[in-house]
Amino acid sequence: MNKAVFLDRDGVITEDIGYVNKIEDFKLLPNAVEGLVLLKNYRLFIVTNQSGIGRGYYKFEDFFNYNKRVLEELKKHNIKIEKTYFCPHNPEDNCECRKPKTRFLEDAKKEFNISLKKSFVIGDRKSDFEMGRNVGCKTIHVLTGNGSNAKNEVHPDYFARDLLDAAKWIIKNDK
Ligand SMILES: [Zn+2]
Repeated sequence: MNKAVFLDRDGVITEDIGYVNKIEDFKLLPNAVEGLVLLKNYRLFIVTNQSGIGRGYYKFEDFFNYNKRVLEELKKHNIKIEKTYFCPHNPEDNCECRKPKTRFLEDAKKEFNISLKKSFVIGDRKSDFEMGRNVGCKTIHVLTGNGSNAKNEVHPDYFARDLLDAAKWIIKNDK
């Protein structure tokens, strides 16, 4: 079985200015590339809530264009994201895919033969850690993003300064 790292995108890989969707706002966070290149023995996935689509702030097309830009930039550094899972729904839709629901992780498990117990979730919000914990992943809070209130609500397994720090912790704690 394969091991995976599930990454939130906004505030973890890229700068989060809130409902980010415009290519001109695209900016990788410091040490994001440096961290991801260390994770070459893991399947990498993006799992992101994009309720801005459901709320009508931007369109599917904007999301795809922006995300493509992110993936292309990572590819330049030989970083491969296997798949981007995104929830376009409004929270009120009560869909099956919005984090902290675990639908996307279950899908990845089947599609890519992932052992969730040997996998990791990196995020900046409570919903990331709840999702990961519910399927037995180890969870890491990167402090580059928002959601600092997550500290008091759901405890991740580790608080990382940035993705590089997170990647080093993963390698050290992968038993
Ligand atoms: Zn959804």
